[in-house]
Amino acid sequence: CMIDYQAPPDLLQGRVILVTGAGDGIGRAAAKRYAAHGATVILLGRTIPKLEAVYDEIEAAGGPQPAIYPLNLEGASLTDYQHMAETLDKEFGRLDGLLHNAGLLGRLTPFEQYDPALWEQVMQVNINGPIWMTQSLLPLLKQSEDASVIFTSSSVGRKGRAFWGAYAVSKFATEGFVEILADEQENVSSIRINSLNPGATRTQMRKTAYPGEDPATLRTPEDIMPTYLWLMGPESREHSGERFDAQPPRS
Ligand code: NDP
Repeated sequence: CMIDYQAPPDLLQGRVILVTGAGDGIGRAAAKRYAAHGATVILLGRTIPKLEAVYDEIEAAGGPQPAIYPLNLEGASLTDYQHMAETLDKEFGRLDGLLHNAGLLGRLTPFEQYDPALWEQVMQVNINGPIWMTQSLLPLLKQSEDASVIFTSSSVGRKGRAFWGAYAVSKFATEGFVEILADEQENVSSIRINSLNPGATRTQMRKTAYPGEDPATLRTPEDIMPTYLWLMGPESREHSGERFDAQPPRS
């Protein structure tokens, strides 16, 4: 846990970083913070006005001009990801960072009542989409000297809990996939692949999962950014195939 990490202002100078789910919550904070440390960020998401708002905030703060890539991970196919890779290749020629942050909670419900269509939807957004996006982007990540790929996990991706259904299964799969890809890339590229559990964070998703909780008791997305910066920056270069936490466990 790098909650106290102090990132130098130029940590991500000249880096090209794609953030999924960049329009809200943790992804929005990460996109803005990466830009504040010099990165050109590609804002990917499904709600264009939200992405435009983040774009404007980055420009207003004097960050490098970002790019918007509208995409709904639920309906996206391999063809869409390949098209995306071609577009990014033309525009930037490489990718130095990829933060898989977009996520769908689905529904907290006993498995016996879990709707199969919703299950598929959650798996699509949380794991299948990110996997095929990664496959399409690997050639671009290899063009970077030391690309960092971060997958977002959750505490329920390490210890199963009642009612978390597809969401928890998708996060277990995420942690497993990170180990597989990191092991494969270890001796063939300089790409590092890790998973990051943000921990309880004040966002819409958390509010939906815990409607009775007082949001004021939670860390904000901004609070947990030190680990997001460290894992994207060169100081984490020696780490791959590992799982990280963006905040200490709650007592
Ligand atoms: P939010 O719901 O606040 O934000 C999720 C983001 O993902 C939104 O920008 C949303 O877009 C985007 N998204 C959802 N579905 C799709 C889709 N089909 N295609 C493209 N983008 C999509 O969640 P958080 O910020 O809280 O969560 C971010 C990540 O952190 C997730 O992976 C989540 O599982 C994980 N996490 C969060 C925790 C927390 O306490 N907040 C704890 C543990 C893990 P839109 O705004 O358009 O809906």
